[in-house]
Amino acid sequence: MGDRIDVVVIGGAIMGASVAFWLTRLAPGMRVRVVEPDPTYAHAATALSVASIRSQFSNPVNVQISRFGIDFIKNFSHWTGPDGGVADLGLTENGYLFLAGTAEGAATAREIAAMQQGLGAATEVLERAALARRFPWLALDDVVAGSYGPRDEGWFDNMGFLGGLRAAARAAGAEFVADRVVGMDRSGDRIAAVKLASGASLEAAEVVLCAGTAAAGLLRLVGEDWPVEPRKRTVFLIDAPNARHPGAPLMIDFQGYYLRPEHDHWITATVPLDDGPCDPMDFEPDHAQFEDAIWPALYARAPGFDAVKVLRMWVGHYDYNRLDQNAILGRHPGWRNLLVASGFSGHGLQQAPAVGRGLAEIIVHGGWRSLDLSPLGVERVLEGRPFAERGIV
Ligand SMILES: Cc1cc2nc3c(=O)[nH]c(=O)nc-3n(C[C@H](O)[C@H](O)[C@H](O)COP(=O)(O)OP(=O)(O)OC[C@H]3O[C@@H](n4cnc5c(N)ncnc54)[C@H](O)[C@@H]3O)c2cc1C
Repeated sequence: MGDRIDVVVIGGAIMGASVAFWLTRLAPGMRVRVVEPDPTYAHAATALSVASIRSQFSNPVNVQISRFGIDFIKNFSHWTGPDGGVADLGLTENGYLFLAGTAEGAATAREIAAMQQGLGAATEVLERAALARRFPWLALDDVVAGSYGPRDEGWFDNMGFLGGLRAAARAAGAEFVADRVVGMDRSGDRIAAVKLASGASLEAAEVVLCAGTAAAGLLRLVGEDWPVEPRKRTVFLIDAPNARHPGAPLMIDFQGYYLRPEHDHWITATVPLDDGPCDPMDFEPDHAQFEDAIWPALYARAPGFDAVKVLRMWVGHYDYNRLDQNAILGRHPGWRNLLVASGFSGHGLQQAPAVGRGLAEIIVHGGWRSLDLSPLGVERVLEGRPFAERGIV
């Protein structure tokens, strides 16, 4: 006989913790159990993220998701209450700066900025001369314009975010167990039981899959071929003594890398030239990416990066959605009691508040309530209909 609960959440990093948190808020007393094999989160994207948030997406749904995300992050202790135990997530509100290298790119930026402003974002598009005045340390000869968000964008404490949500969910009755899901029993169009490595079996009215890069493998257990795969990203923490600009934004250069301050240093990363699915246990940094790709482009953009030392580097894996690099959310149409949160492709941390709330609303109220996230639904993936979003980093 299995252990009966209302909702089992597979994976207890930011998505699983957010779903559990929102369930305790929307349905106090609901029996929620989160299964997480690694309470240290050594390989979770949540822990390896560069933890930044922006309003600058091209699809209004993603903008709305981040608009709620920034409210949640700025007012974290209000949302979680004292049980979260985290007073402040230390948001550094320096903004994002997307550089455009063509007149067409600048026109697109202006069009998208107008949509973002309509949703409450502060995005402004600066022509080259205005950019040069605001960011005099940048070399802008090849730049036409820059799309800049002077507020509601920046970076924050990812582990405080996770720890606070977990603590608040726990205090309200959600259980987190250290175990691994190794199987799912089917019965018709339902997941009848979730099997754990410990030998336990959980029977739940609802199953929520929040297992990051492991989600696709778990879906294979129920016969699903999911277009999500692990993709390796090496992040570099660098020291550049001649480039001290603590107010700098997170800059996304069309030359193919991003850069942001990290206290007295900088964080930077690129997309590898041979980008493709990786071994899920490959966490070996690729130092050549810095030497060969990032540094030459960075030095051309900002001469202060003439002297640079790599202080640390680490690898995290995107749960990369091959179809359209966007979240896949909601109830699975083929499985009556299965919900998923997958495919975040490098921008999921900021989406966790809206995703957790949305999935909890489906379970508790039977549908999306606060935000209609159906454009990101599972159906589009099963039907091969890409969600249109141009702001992928
Ligand atoms: C280098 C890098 C930079 C990023 N930068 C940003 C950023 O600036 N802004 C942003 O918004 N997002 C960013 N992201 C993306 C963001 O970190 C992820 O989208 C988000 O953390 C995904 O959360 P998750 O809970 O879905 O997955 P994860 O954090 O990967 O967690 C999945 C969890 O599932 C557990 N699990 C795995 N298998 C099982 C199993 N069989 N049973 C039970 N549990 C299991 C794992 O142990 C893990 O804890 C970045 C990601 C990377 C890698």
